[in-house]
Amino acid sequence: MQRGRTLLQGAKSIVAVTGAGISAESGVPTFRGAGGLWRNYRPETLATPDAFARDPRLVWEWYAWRREKIAECRPNAAHLALAEAAHRGRATVITQNVDELHRDAARIVANGAAVADVIELHGSIFRMQCTRCGALRADRAVVDATSIATLPKCERCGRLMRPGVVWFGEALSPAVLERACALAARADVCLVIGTSAVVQPAASIALLTRENGGAVIEINPEETPLTAHADVSFRATATETVPRLLANTV
Ligand code: NAD
Ligand code: ZN
Repeated sequence: MQRGRTLLQGAKSIVAVTGAGISAESGVPTFRGAGGLWRNYRPETLATPDAFARDPRLVWEWYAWRREKIAECRPNAAHLALAEAAHRGRATVITQNVDELHRDAARIVANGAAVADVIELHGSIFRMQCTRCGALRADRAVVDATSIATLPKCERCGRLMRPGVVWFGEALSPAVLERACALAARADVCLVIGTSAVVQPAASIALLTRENGGAVIEINPEETPLTAHADVSFRATATETVPRLLANTV
């Protein structure tokens, strides 16, 4: 803990790369942990363009279930501690999560003032995109996935909407990725919180910090492929670690 706090105290710029694990203690299931499965489907077989082309109703049914579950979740102490650091201009959050909990935390902390930016690498589960014209909309309404006819449609062209997230096998927005990489490359410290570091580019973003002389601090109850490259590694949960690590340091 002392080593991590010292690294953070001396850091001019900090990035935090987060994954599903940071939201686990808010009640959002991770893909690879307990409770991640839905009716015995593996997420890797549902969160793909092929799955949606084959059976859009089934994929929307899964997303409708996840949207309802996530809508009940609130940011936890780890989201809030990071949001406070971001609000003070000391850190930028780069997330793989689609739950908007970092954005919610930023809004809570800003309390009416300007809200710190969050880089969402994989989009948001509360956004939809038209499969034909590409129109995007923010939408938290309950999705009725009982039939194709009841699935959400585009307001502009009437075609089927899809979840506004990046699926397995799809490319990230180059502009978003570029921004994340640039920030990581010039960061003095990269915190990696709750990501299995199996799904790219989370792991490679942290390595950019390292290659440029910065330090990597990992927080994950389990060892990951990134652990060997981390300067400090906590085998503990996000809410146990992040608030203590950041308190009075950043
Ligand atoms: P993952 O499910 O592959 O891994 C989660 C990691 O979090 C694991 O390494 C696990 O050990 C760790 N973890 C579990 N509980 C934790 C806790 N309390 N504190 C800290 N760490 C904890 O998640 P991933 O690496 O983010 O990749 C999965 C992909 O699925 C991502 O691309 C993401 O977009 C998507 N996803 C998002 C959400 C979300 O938005 N909350 C949830 C599930 C999956
Ligand atoms: Zn459209």
